[in-house]
Order: sequence, then structure tokens, then C-alpha cells
Amino acid sequence: MIISSSKLVAGKRKLIIEKNYITNWSIESFPKNPRLLSAKADQTSVALTFDDGPDPVYTPQILDILDQKKVKGVFFVTGENVEKYPDIANQIVSKGHIIANHTYDHPRTYAMSDQEFIAQIQSTQNIIEKVTGVSPKYFRIPYSDSSSIENIEDLRRYKILEKHNLQAAHYDVDSKDWELNDPQKIIDMVLSHDLKNSSQLLFHDGGSDRSSTVKALPAIIDNIHSQGLKIITLDQFTSKTEQTINQEKKSFSQLGFGIQIIGSKIIRYYLNIFLILVFVRYFGLWVLNIITIFLPKK
Ligand SMILES: [Zn+2]
Repeated sequence: MIISSSKLVAGKRKLIIEKNYITNWSIESFPKNPRLLSAKADQTSVALTFDDGPDPVYTPQILDILDQKKVKGVFFVTGENVEKYPDIANQIVSKGHIIANHTYDHPRTYAMSDQEFIAQIQSTQNIIEKVTGVSPKYFRIPYSDSSSIENIEDLRRYKILEKHNLQAAHYDVDSKDWELNDPQKIIDMVLSHDLKNSSQLLFHDGGSDRSSTVKALPAIIDNIHSQGLKIITLDQFTSKTEQTINQEKKSFSQLGFGIQIIGSKIIRYYLNIFLILVFVRYFGLWVLNIITIFLPKK
């Protein structure tokens, strides 16, 4: 008999019970860790990212603007749109931009089974490879509005991405071009952020009328340059990202339950003791509860 619990704050464990005895247990997943898989540029650069294309009307216009401004972008495409517009997907690649995976048909993935989620990313990976010859390295979850792993569901999906050698790419500046149908409002929205401390700017080249994005983009690029910032693609901050992941993996194995806090060693030391006590208390109680269930009843 196998019992799993997802109620515990400190992660998910699996107990194997045979003939009323716990014969084995294992940790299935670790608690949230906000630094996992988070890609960051340094303070001298940002990346321009475009979601939901390729689109036959707006993607070519955006590609022209990027050419004129001599910068490269990152395009998170859906498999469905690459099937419809293979020529435009090929233009993205031939002009030296990064093509990345944004699922097959842009579903909400939160409650999706592992199999469905894998089908979404794998089919899109296959289509992009077949059409462009490029195997994407980056993935963005549709409707993602956070730059951290908030719960066990997020962690589950990020672990699947890791298994498929895909790097999760979070944006930290939302141009809100999906909502603001006005070029000046989009410009103001982007420039209201502290771009020196930002990494990935989110725009859309597909999914709807993106004429406001097209109109806003030149001024946004000019402003980024006038702030002394470079526009780079995710490839230029990959090494940093991989380092972060490796650190996380190391901390998982070192601490046993993967808690890493940025702060002084002393804070970390006391926090770890506190967490161990919390863990022992709850896990102990939980094991006792489980055992009680299987005690013979009078
Ligand atoms: Zn999207």
C-alpha cells in the first residue's frame, strides 16, 4: 500500500506500508524554492520577449523593427501557430532571433496532468524542430504571472521542464500590451519599471490585434538604449541561470529538504534549526496518525 500526502508544508512524502508496517518512505518533492529556474540578466542589459506568435501580420513587422534597431529578440511561439505559419517561424530563426516553446495551444496548465503537460511541450518541441531545425531551449508557461515558484504545482511543472532540458523563462516587466490597446500607454507601462533591475520584458506578437505593440516598440527600444542598457537574448544569460539551478540542486541534497534563504550564515543557521524542529514535529505527528490508522481496533 502506498500513501502520499500533499498537505505537509515541508514537501511531499511517500510511505510504503506492508502488512500494517511502514517498510519504506521517500521524499517525492521538495518545498517551494523561489530561486529555482529563475533567469536574470545583469544590470547592464534586458531581453525583449514576444509571446503567442508567430502571426502573419504582426510578427514580420516586429522583425523589421528589430532589424532596423539592430537588436535580437526571443519569440515564445505556440506549436499550433508554427504549424499554420511555418515561413514566419523560419524568418524568426533566419534573422538570428531565439525561438522558444510556449505550449501547443496555449492552455491553462495549472491543473493539467503530467502527461498532458508533457504532450503540450513535447509536441511543440517536435513541430519547431521539424519546421526550423532548431531545438528550443526555453519555455514560458501560458498565463504565468509570477517570477517565482509559489507552490507544489509550480514545482511539479518546473521539474518536468527540467527533465525535458527546457529552461523556464519568466518575465519581470509586463508591458500589458494584451490589455492596454494604446501605444503610449504601453510605452509608459514599460518605462514605469526600473529597467536596470529588470531582465525580461514581455510583449505579444500574436493572439490578437498587436498593432499597438508594433507602434510602441521603436520608442521602447530607443529608451532602453538611452538608459545605457544593452538588449540581449536569453542565450546571453544562460550560464548564470544554469549556475543557479545547480546551486539549488546542491542545496537540496545538502539540507535534505531544500531550504535556502538569502541572508547571513547566522540567520540561515537558526532558520534551519527552526525548520528542522517544525519538520520533526509535523512529520512525527503525521507518522503517528498514519500508524494509529493501522493499529488493530478493539
Ligand atoms: Zn502566452
